[in-house]
Amino acid sequence: MKTLPRADVAIVGGGWAGLLMAKELGARTGLSVVVLERGAPRKTADYFEGMDELDYAIRLRMMQDASKETVTFRHTSKDRALPVRQFASFLPGTGVGGAGEHWTGITPRFLPDCFEILTRTVERYGAGRLPENHSMQDWGITYAELEPFYTRAEKLLGISGKTGLDPFEGPHSAEYPTPPQRTGYFPSLFRDAARSLGYHPSPVPSANLSQAYRNPDGIVRPACTYCGFCERFGCMVGAKAQPTNMLLPVIARHKSVTVRTGANVRRVLYKDGKATGVSYVDANGEEVVQPADLVVLASWTLNNTRLLLLSKIGEAYDARSGTGHLGRNFTHQATFRGVVLFFDRPLNRFMGSGACGVAIRDLDGDSFDHGPLNFIRGAYIGAYSRGHPPIGSFGVVPPSVKATWGSEWKKAAMDAFDCAANLGISGEHLAYRTNYLDLDPTYRDSHGDPLLRMTMDWNDNERNMIGFVSAKMAQVGREMGAREVVAAALPRRYDVNTYRSTHLQGGTIMGVNPGNSVVNPWLQHWRMSNLFVLGASTFPQNPSGNPTLTILAQTLRTADAIVDRYLKHPGLLA
Ligand SMILES: Cc1cc2nc3c(=O)[nH]c(=O)nc-3n(C[C@H](O)[C@H](O)[C@H](O)COP(=O)(O)OP(=O)(O)OC[C@H]3O[C@@H](n4cnc5c(N)ncnc54)[C@H](O)[C@@H]3O)c2cc1C
Ligand code: SF4
Repeated sequence: MKTLPRADVAIVGGGWAGLLMAKELGARTGLSVVVLERGAPRKTADYFEGMDELDYAIRLRMMQDASKETVTFRHTSKDRALPVRQFASFLPGTGVGGAGEHWTGITPRFLPDCFEILTRTVERYGAGRLPENHSMQDWGITYAELEPFYTRAEKLLGISGKTGLDPFEGPHSAEYPTPPQRTGYFPSLFRDAARSLGYHPSPVPSANLSQAYRNPDGIVRPACTYCGFCERFGCMVGAKAQPTNMLLPVIARHKSVTVRTGANVRRVLYKDGKATGVSYVDANGEEVVQPADLVVLASWTLNNTRLLLLSKIGEAYDARSGTGHLGRNFTHQATFRGVVLFFDRPLNRFMGSGACGVAIRDLDGDSFDHGPLNFIRGAYIGAYSRGHPPIGSFGVVPPSVKATWGSEWKKAAMDAFDCAANLGISGEHLAYRTNYLDLDPTYRDSHGDPLLRMTMDWNDNERNMIGFVSAKMAQVGREMGAREVVAAALPRRYDVNTYRSTHLQGGTIMGVNPGNSVVNPWLQHWRMSNLFVLGASTFPQNPSGNPTLTILAQTLRTADAIVDRYLKHPGLLA
């Protein structure tokens, strides 16, 4: 075992959250910062050629290799969990930039009431309307407190959008830095039909730039070419905001910050209630200790939780007794392909960008009265032109086609290829006592450490909510002129084999006191003041919208708290 010289700060994970924290600390302090990333180095030039759907989107070239590290899964605590051999329902990133390299770029803010979900729901409907077995709680931070950091994050990424069209959005202290992206044909059909039915469509906020933009760090990125290779790919021109094109060039200006790749962190080390560093296995398989005065975990939802469990920091959640907080409130956005529409004419969906679309929030959060309904909360619903990859998009046929194979099916699949499209439904997932993360008692990784175990299933609230929203969207689909409309229900059971989103949240949740959370509202561990945890593992529930803008806003808020307060007076900030 090798012990390296002490660093001021060790950051675990070189994705959006870890590299943003490194950039902020590098720019605003003289601290020595080392980012420990388990995967390989990356740079924008890696994406200049070779956008191969089979390689990237189907064989998942940029994602975590499940043969090296995976999770186990079961529906309930009575079941035996089995290892996930191939990632499908979510796609963890690895390598510099993390999943932020191959993300899509949809960047809504969360609705203001998400942050006070328990209080607001009880105020409006009474405690009797909370789902059975829920473990919902307020975040310990309000939208108003986070708003300046949302604005900063939007300026950093150059988000393309337009405020003021969506009556449900929270107040914005500034207009989006760049105008919305162009509207594709299919989203324009949705916009017009939704508006005619009384909804309030607005352009999806996008991290795929509508025009060239220089951000406050002086980073210049060009406009998107609508090539359609955003999701599961890195952007070849740098128009999609990615950690490698936005954060690495700034980090490179600061000699005090090092990004060390091939460093797979296994434990947070501590003594007398203080973190003293981390231990990791390097690319040669050697055990290394990196001592540090401040430790920041930014290894995404699953590994943030796993590292704390493996390091025995905090009390693990016990579903039977309901005690402990580490691992609880695990959620996965209730996203699904939603309503599939078949048209008589081509939709030209081969061009577009990941976030090129139109969305409504009329059926989201508490934007509508749930009084007579059998569920609470709702979904972010959008129509997109994001490129229509030939392999992954092939084989969707309308229900009127009875053949399931052979020449009739093939002809129908060819005919439907560019005439079919879906309305994407991203549903809120509440926290339940029965959905959680812990260490698997049976299965281990190649280093001999227990795998993380996911216990997760849908409940009636999500099933009822998705059923309601789908029926409403089927109506919009008919208004759009679709010849055939398929409104699917949320599958009865949670399924690890079908892609949903990579928006897993919870496990190391934030809250106002150590009696209900793992970290405080500054994302500082309640029991170890020199340990911070960044990312969606700190979200107590899963709001409908995509999480990354909120992750970045919270990271900026924590960076300010560390620089302006913690470094001057080390200790608990809350
Ligand atoms: C296909 C896809 C599309 C997406 N689209 C959107 C979207 O449109 N909008 C949106 O808001 N979000 C989207 N997301 C989610 C988004 O990518 C994540 O929210 C975001 O990347 C989270 O940032 P992070 O830094 O917390 O985690 P990550 O990006 O996952 O980075 C974590 C890093 O930590 C490293 N790491 C993990 N464990 C260890 C360890 N033990 N030691 C050292 N390093 C470790 C990983 O290798 C990784 O590089 C998408 C994700 C995917 C996969
Ligand atoms: S669609 Fe635009 S943002 Fe996406 S990869 Fe192509 S050029 Fe980049």
